[in-house]
Amino acid sequence: MDHFLYRNGQLHAEDVPLAEIAATVGTPVYCYSTATLKRHYRLFTEALSPLPHLVCFAVKSLSNVAVLKTLGDLGAGMDVVSGGEYRRARAAGVPGDRIVFSGVGKTREEMRLALTEGIRQFNVESEPELRALSEVCVSLGVTAPITLRVNPDVDARTHEKIATGKKENKFGIPISRASEIYAEAAGLPGIDVVGIDVHIGSQLTALEPFEQAYLKVADLTQRLRAEGHDIRRLDLGGGLGIPYSRSNDAPPLPLDYGALIKRTVGHLGCEIEIEPGRLISGNAGVLVSRIIYVKQGEGRDFLILDAAMNDLIRPSMYGAHHDIVPLAEPAVAVQPHVYDVVGPVCETGDTFARARPLPALRQGDLVAFRSAGAYGAVMASEYNSRPLIPEVLVKEDHFAVIRARPSFDEMLARDTLPPWL
Ligand SMILES: *Cc1c(COP(=O)(O)O)cnc(C)c1O
Repeated sequence: MDHFLYRNGQLHAEDVPLAEIAATVGTPVYCYSTATLKRHYRLFTEALSPLPHLVCFAVKSLSNVAVLKTLGDLGAGMDVVSGGEYRRARAAGVPGDRIVFSGVGKTREEMRLALTEGIRQFNVESEPELRALSEVCVSLGVTAPITLRVNPDVDARTHEKIATGKKENKFGIPISRASEIYAEAAGLPGIDVVGIDVHIGSQLTALEPFEQAYLKVADLTQRLRAEGHDIRRLDLGGGLGIPYSRSNDAPPLPLDYGALIKRTVGHLGCEIEIEPGRLISGNAGVLVSRIIYVKQGEGRDFLILDAAMNDLIRPSMYGAHHDIVPLAEPAVAVQPHVYDVVGPVCETGDTFARARPLPALRQGDLVAFRSAGAYGAVMASEYNSRPLIPEVLVKEDHFAVIRARPSFDEMLARDTLPPWL
């Protein structure tokens, strides 16, 4: 459930008409709902209670500091995958002991940053990373709590670009070599082994792959304990999918996911961490765009929007579907018209939807892409020298710009001329 509903014929974000935001801030614009973010976070903490747990929001899905602070103020932890995300989490007031550091390519500089400013744990993904972390810890005279990310070799049954838990993926250590690598970790100076980490992919729409993975993690916990390791924390990653289309089967709910966790690893007495991104932020955001032109092509009509692939790359990168709705509520009985919905960027890939049935629309009309909160603004670029689009946060009947659209002067000022020009 989200808080983007029609009221009095106008699509609202909570109590604010999106058309009002478009008029004030301009389009295209990302708009997030505080109530939806909070609701999704709470669903997870409720689903895991009474197990001791920490819900670490995957910062990479939506990293605006105002969003992180909204969640951090509720007690959420953060899952970061770069020094930049670490700094964002800290800037949002999240203490280091609620931040976990994931990712396959952490640099020594990033390790030093987190070790100096405070970290809950590193999720280590390889032996060379383990050795590098040990060296950095020794040089700083500190100890790092770590888990090793194991690759359980299960098929997450999701898009190939976001599946991470098969042995051919670049993530984690093979579960078959876990004993050996945990033994090495336990012997390294500056390393404190606290648990096991697993993350098998994103936008999973079934529970079975999670179940397979967590049963393997439960087995591994017992094996590693028998080998003398004090496994007290399990980080179970993120990956629960969201409904991108109103007409699709509903993916599993956080409550069912929580029950699965309790069933598979609840008896082990471990503290549970999860790292949901999309399920918290995805349906908490929309992208609002204006129709620049309606163009009649041969055999099809094009809606040419002021948003493009550089603003929302998911359709072009993953073939992803986003529901597109007009801000002005269409009459119930209206006959749908079929459009190709495209952006102005000079690539055929800049297509949001093909042959999409929509109510008849006109130049100047406003539309919203639903479910655009996750992997939307964070993946935006300035391709075609289009300014990064602004972000707005709504809370009840107020809204605030939480990232302003840069001016063209600011964009140009980042380029510098070499002395010979
Ligand atoms: C991307 C990622 C997540 C979040 O995935 P969602 O599908 O957005 O929930 C969590 N943990 C790790 C390690 C990730 O790489």
